[in-house]
Amino acid sequence: MDSFILKGDIAYCDENKKLVTVKDGFLICINGLIEGIFQDVPDRFRFLPIKDCSNQLIIPGMTDLHIHAAQYAFRGTGMDVELLDWLQKYAFPEESRFQDLQYAEKAYSIFADSVKKSATTRLCMFASRHTDATLLLMDKMEASGLISYVGKVNMDRNAPDPLREESAESSFSETERFLREWNERKYRRTFPILTPRFTPSCTDELMDRLGELKEKYAVSVQSHLSENPSEIQFVSELCPWTNDYFEAYDQFGLLGNRNQTEKCIMAHCIWSSEREVDKLKENGVFVAHCPSSNVNVRSGIAPVKKYLERGLKVGLGSDVAGGETESLFSTITDAIKASKVYTRFIDEKTMPLTFEEAFYLATRGGGEFFGKVGAFEQGYEADVIVLRDELLKTTMNFTIAERLERSVYLGLDRMGITHKFVQGKEISSD
Ligand SMILES: [Zn+2]
Repeated sequence: MDSFILKGDIAYCDENKKLVTVKDGFLICINGLIEGIFQDVPDRFRFLPIKDCSNQLIIPGMTDLHIHAAQYAFRGTGMDVELLDWLQKYAFPEESRFQDLQYAEKAYSIFADSVKKSATTRLCMFASRHTDATLLLMDKMEASGLISYVGKVNMDRNAPDPLREESAESSFSETERFLREWNERKYRRTFPILTPRFTPSCTDELMDRLGELKEKYAVSVQSHLSENPSEIQFVSELCPWTNDYFEAYDQFGLLGNRNQTEKCIMAHCIWSSEREVDKLKENGVFVAHCPSSNVNVRSGIAPVKKYLERGLKVGLGSDVAGGETESLFSTITDAIKASKVYTRFIDEKTMPLTFEEAFYLATRGGGEFFGKVGAFEQGYEADVIVLRDELLKTTMNFTIAERLERSVYLGLDRMGITHKFVQGKEISSD
């Protein structure tokens, strides 16, 4: 059933990041696309089935622009050290286990099952360096009904033995095998993305070969940029001839958008210079803002409000397991809280994010990576979440905007999602 009508209390953000709300509205979906929101059902749509979700909130599905599927098992632990030590102490040992396909099967089943139950309908994720385990993750994601990009991670230096690939050449050929096997599997909703972990993990030779793959297969790229001061220092030692971290990728053609088909996501961008921010904008790079992770591994707070004001493309990333949860409701509130700390302690002239701006980031902002996703205007893909907010008992009468805000702050995504649609197809919760 890709054509139907949902009745309820509707909320989404318009292109100016303002919340649009409609009480007792009818959201009409035709062949997986939004037709519009109506106060009454027009005659020409009267033949469509109506799902009555009166008094429930109807909002767009959310996009997680940055999450590490292979770190999901240890989420919520290991918050005692900064990024580079955290990678060595927690992330790398866990990712090493994905050499074992039986372990990968168990871990990725838990992961896919969890994101399926969340408010997230689209994801861009890192797997591990292991091609076969990454393909197994793709099988799980395809079966989940969600739409995602999955990356086999590249790393041929500065990683412990079981995780470091033997050479740039073997990393390159495994990545090409990954792309070919993906092509043979004919998935409908699961796509590959090139994933050099970050500059400290990839030799120049490897980056150069990945640039070749990007050209040859017109495939998008995701990585990390300017996350932590000690990481940035390390990059400047590894690439002394580049102006900044951006150039460390850009010199290999990894960030541009030459064919207009491939895109790029850079997670974090906390410490980006003015020049780097200009370059991000110029190249249409998506910034994945990951406030929970940035605080947990003591990286800092990205000036996300400034990025929005300057017209950069920005979405949210849960960045599990740097971030403790895949819940984008949590990430939204963390983004708002972090922006208030930024205003208080770093720059009083930069105002904090409003709720509607943070909600925009989780829906329309990140959704743009996938095309027309994250809003309820005509032609948008019908990714929809329905929330039963009466579970959050109160004596007060709230507006739809207030009901949405408290649903997000009070974590209603954990127990209050009654329906979830991706491209107009309902995702069953069992
Ligand atoms: Zn990350």
